[in-house]
Amino acid sequence: MRLHCDVEVVSRHLPALGMRNRGKGVRAVLSLCQQPRSRAGGEPGDRPRACLLISTLKDKRGTRYELKENIEQFFTKFVDEGKATVRLKEPPVDICLSKANSSSLKQFLSTVRLAHRGCEVNAQLSTLTPVKTSEFEKFKTKMVITSKKDYPLSKNFPYSLEHLQTSYCGLVRVDMRMLCLKNLRKLDLSHNRIKTLPATIGDLIHLQELNLNDNHLESFSVDLCQSTLQKSLRSLDLSKNKIKALPVQFCQLRELTDLKLDDNELIQFPFKIGQLTNLRFLSAARNKLPFLPSEFKNLSLEYLDLFGNTFEQPKVLPVIKLQVPLTLLESSARTILCTRIPYGSHIIPFHLCQDLDTAKTCVCGNFCLRSFIQGTTTMNLHAVAHTVVLVDNMGGTEAPIISYFCSLACYVNSSDMLK
Ligand SMILES: [Zn+2]
Repeated sequence: MRLHCDVEVVSRHLPALGMRNRGKGVRAVLSLCQQPRSRAGGEPGDRPRACLLISTLKDKRGTRYELKENIEQFFTKFVDEGKATVRLKEPPVDICLSKANSSSLKQFLSTVRLAHRGCEVNAQLSTLTPVKTSEFEKFKTKMVITSKKDYPLSKNFPYSLEHLQTSYCGLVRVDMRMLCLKNLRKLDLSHNRIKTLPATIGDLIHLQELNLNDNHLESFSVDLCQSTLQKSLRSLDLSKNKIKALPVQFCQLRELTDLKLDDNELIQFPFKIGQLTNLRFLSAARNKLPFLPSEFKNLSLEYLDLFGNTFEQPKVLPVIKLQVPLTLLESSARTILCTRIPYGSHIIPFHLCQDLDTAKTCVCGNFCLRSFIQGTTTMNLHAVAHTVVLVDNMGGTEAPIISYFCSLACYVNSSDMLK
């Protein structure tokens, strides 16, 4: 009987010696084996005794532990999460198991318990053979490939991978085999030639970091913005691509803390960017941003880099697009948004949903669709970020920001700000 999991063997003498364990397990194969008899032949009626063998990649022959009447305690509170600890009497160690399949772990522990009581477990015993390297390979959690020749064409990626990097492999699309790696937390596809992303990347429910630096991407799809990435994705690197704009739904990736957009062709930020309240690091250097959206003021960053954009001088005169009286469409849209009436393309035409999705927010908090005054002003980027990279070679940290006003009254009230 064998169990694959992470193991850390902790000596209970360590704290007395002022030492601590590393708190990190290594991938191991646990086997229940037959204890080789210590004396030649042993007693005639002796039953073979079961022992626990822990093999790791560094120690394939493994370390053996006696089981019969040798277990002080089982800790199984987190067995459903694939974790348990077996405390041995001699040697005085705690064998901490983690990242195991919970049902295999339960089965394994119950056999260990039987062996401890001295019950017959012969049927479950494995032979005492060293574990093969390939058996560890299957349970690899990290794989880094940085050249085309190392890219696996005939072999599959190990299913257990949590971190996969395939850079400089000349990939033109995302390999579908990667999308079956359900444990993936970190996917690095930088320095390839990928043009589009499949929506199924959104099925990688644990994906926290996605690196697409230096590819040929022209967009980031709405489907991806509305996938499970909303709950998992913390870090996204889209720098050195050909992206001109991000969809407004991009701002639904609320868990994002790090976003890199340098060296693209961005002509605008998604205007609801202020909704990315967890964002701490934002860089969009060397793009074509003429100004920032008004919601940019709601960000609370640690680091901001907007160097080398084509920021325009704020316009002195505002753009006035007020409709008096408001059209029926404008008033109903404002009411829907203000009172947060739910809407969707199953209730109203799709183009109206789009209008509502892209409504502008006035400084007063109200919304406007087509009737508004648009003004530009400058803001000091230090107002939203602790560390600011200069926006130009002139040493400036100011950038133009666009603001919307739902009425003349709102514009007049804020006109101090616009001076
Ligand atoms: Zn207003």
